[in-house]
Amino acid sequence: MADIFDDFPRRFPLAHLPTPLAEMKHLRAALGPHCPRLFIKRDDCTGLAGGGNKTRKLEFLIGEALAQGADTIVTTGALQSNHARQTAAAAVAAGLRATLVLMDMVPYDGRRYRSSGNRLLDEILGADVVVVPTGENPADVFKRVMGGIETRGGKSYFIPAGGSNATGSLGYAAAYIEIADQLAALGVARTRIVHASSSGGTQAGLVAGQGFREKGPAVHGINVYRADGEAMAGDILKLAVATAAKLGLPPPGADSLILEEGYMGARYGMPTPGMVEAVELVARTEAVLLDPVYTGKAMAGMIDLLRRGKFAEDETLVFLHTGGTPGLFAYEEEFLGTSN
Ligand SMILES: *Cc1c(COP(=O)(O)O)cnc(C)c1O
Repeated sequence: MADIFDDFPRRFPLAHLPTPLAEMKHLRAALGPHCPRLFIKRDDCTGLAGGGNKTRKLEFLIGEALAQGADTIVTTGALQSNHARQTAAAAVAAGLRATLVLMDMVPYDGRRYRSSGNRLLDEILGADVVVVPTGENPADVFKRVMGGIETRGGKSYFIPAGGSNATGSLGYAAAYIEIADQLAALGVARTRIVHASSSGGTQAGLVAGQGFREKGPAVHGINVYRADGEAMAGDILKLAVATAAKLGLPPPGADSLILEEGYMGARYGMPTPGMVEAVELVARTEAVLLDPVYTGKAMAGMIDLLRRGKFAEDETLVFLHTGGTPGLFAYEEEFLGTSN
């Protein structure tokens, strides 16, 4: 199928697309008689060394890095960053090196938090990892890292946290078309995509992508990242406008940006009881593994909103599974009942 994204010759193929769209009948039954139809879009199955949503963004980012002649990708994230792990894998696939500057920013003291999950996969994938302790200025670390690459005659390409700039967000504008067309093929109308939002590129891309499909799904983000939700929504809208501009689409309006509050808990990366309940419920009804930092909290939000009757019964919800399952291994005590 030809589409406008074929006009971006710099797209470097990394993802197994399209990802599956499956109905969650057992979860729906578990949530009671008034629950609308539920689907799940399996972007945990994008296929790149554990999968996840960053893979779609990286197709465009790595493409740009190659076009610029870079030999080393530099990116950043939390210690258990799914983005950093997928970037390390994408660099391998493209024959590039990767330096991950990881922030020790989540005050979680789980036994495996600093050694397992994504952190372990970063090592196995052969990335150069620099951990920035709390209190150290990240800017100094970046300067040192970039300087080191230059000194050895290399050329770096910097990807911001989460791959969330207008280039990365192209991946989710393309994904919006994929989702809208899968739903249309099933004859499902009045749909809403629900997903975890953090650095914002996923939501910005989806919202920009609405410009391609007039009657396509609404986009409903759930904030799992920032305490200042309003500023975050403003930033995501700006990114959506920039992404739409890249695609020659009209700028999305503020009313297209829905960012639900109340499900992050104390702060980013810290477990909540709702997250644990959601991870276990979805595993035990649908055999789908969510993650502790993003999709578990987003699913907890969707379930809570459903229980409170916040969605119309004749609407169909599509939960976008953005990946992150390696993170489960970094948070084992939450699921073994052995925390605290
Ligand atoms: C990064 C990430 C998100 C959030 O996507 P953004 O584009 O950063 O908002 C959601 N889920 C998982 C598993 C992620 O790794």
